[in-house]
Amino acid sequence: MDAHNIYWNPFTETLPRERLETFQLEKFKRIFAWAYKRSKFHRNLYDAAGIKPDDIQTFEDIRRVPKVEKAMMRDIQLKDPFPYGDALCVPLEEVTEFRQTSGTTGQPVYQPDTWQDWEWWAEAWSYILYAQGYRNTDRVFIPFGYNIFVAFWAGHYACEKIGCEVVPGGVLNTEARVLKMRELRATAFMATPTYVLGMADTARRKLGIDPARDLHIRRITCAGEPGASIPTTKRRMEEAWGAKVFDHIGATEIGAWSYECLEQPGGLHVNEALFLVEIEDMETGETITEPERPGKMVITAFDRIAQPCVRFDSKDVIQWAKDPCPCGRTFRLIKGGVIGRADDITKVKGVLLAPTAIEEVVRGIPELGNDYEVIVSKRGDVDEITLRIEILEEALGRKDEVLARLKDQLRLKTNLGYKIEFHPYGSLPRYEVKAKRFKDLRKKGH
Ligand SMILES: [Zn+2]
Repeated sequence: MDAHNIYWNPFTETLPRERLETFQLEKFKRIFAWAYKRSKFHRNLYDAAGIKPDDIQTFEDIRRVPKVEKAMMRDIQLKDPFPYGDALCVPLEEVTEFRQTSGTTGQPVYQPDTWQDWEWWAEAWSYILYAQGYRNTDRVFIPFGYNIFVAFWAGHYACEKIGCEVVPGGVLNTEARVLKMRELRATAFMATPTYVLGMADTARRKLGIDPARDLHIRRITCAGEPGASIPTTKRRMEEAWGAKVFDHIGATEIGAWSYECLEQPGGLHVNEALFLVEIEDMETGETITEPERPGKMVITAFDRIAQPCVRFDSKDVIQWAKDPCPCGRTFRLIKGGVIGRADDITKVKGVLLAPTAIEEVVRGIPELGNDYEVIVSKRGDVDEITLRIEILEEALGRKDEVLARLKDQLRLKTNLGYKIEFHPYGSLPRYEVKAKRFKDLRKKGH
């Protein structure tokens, strides 16, 4: 690969911070004015707070702009103009794409995009894929059931934009997908971490194919779950496929806003040319600018026009990294990706519990399968965490030793005790898109 050509956009990705921030402020003003003028929903929200487009002159002014929550978007939909409601900033005739959120946290939210928005999605994904080494010599297989969820749709179009050859693996089942990858010598693919591991498992057990030995995959891009930023899960995927695994984070209502680069510095770059990311303290709401202090992400997409994303309260918990990335990009890094969801990071027995910490432990023990479930419940007045895991058949004779190691590691990493349930290999639920591994029975709605 050409070492001098590592950036998709050499201009924006290396802009000095000061110029980048000036650029961001201008872009924020533009999208804010657009939303204010075109969307009744946004105008009502901003009028109620007494903020008009001319009031935005500094980053401090931006912080006074009211946030938009997912629940607000839910309330306006199915109203005029049907089905999106009055946050729509363009005539309905200009909408060319319908998508909806996965609904893992309640009623799905509809997302309209114009053709311009759709090109913007592909552009955002081009930054990601190019930074991860995708070039026009790649043949990319997309093992995804193309549907109303955005998932890898934009990844598909970005591959074409870069010049890769794309093989859509739509309605094929897992075995057929693996066989097609082998037949065509695909060099890369995209999937959720759960499915990356599940495919390798199916290949080995049902087809006798060892993906690391028998296929030609060099790189894999993940999305949808934090796994590719959890070192032990990343290692499992890389060993199973003999490939480099990269993370990216995006969301239907936001866009594809961050990516891991070839340097893999233990974090992801925020695409600061296309997005403004702010981090807020979860209790005080104060803006966090210092590194390694987790808070809730508030995000703005500068160029999305049909249904704008302006200071969206994403509930993703992230933290800035301390050091810049050796790749030379001036886009800041978030350390360790998304650490959790503000709703999932919960106190158990008074201790803050992040589900990603449990995954890191489970996937670090080779005798355990990839799948697991965490259930937080109450017994009398006491919180109880049950961890359901699968033990591999070949390790059944060493169950007690595995259990002791698991308990030690969990205590060390999360400072909590667990009720452990071993289940036979293959008996816990498998997921193709987003895994639902964490249940808090103390909250309603579960
Ligand atoms: Zn980098």
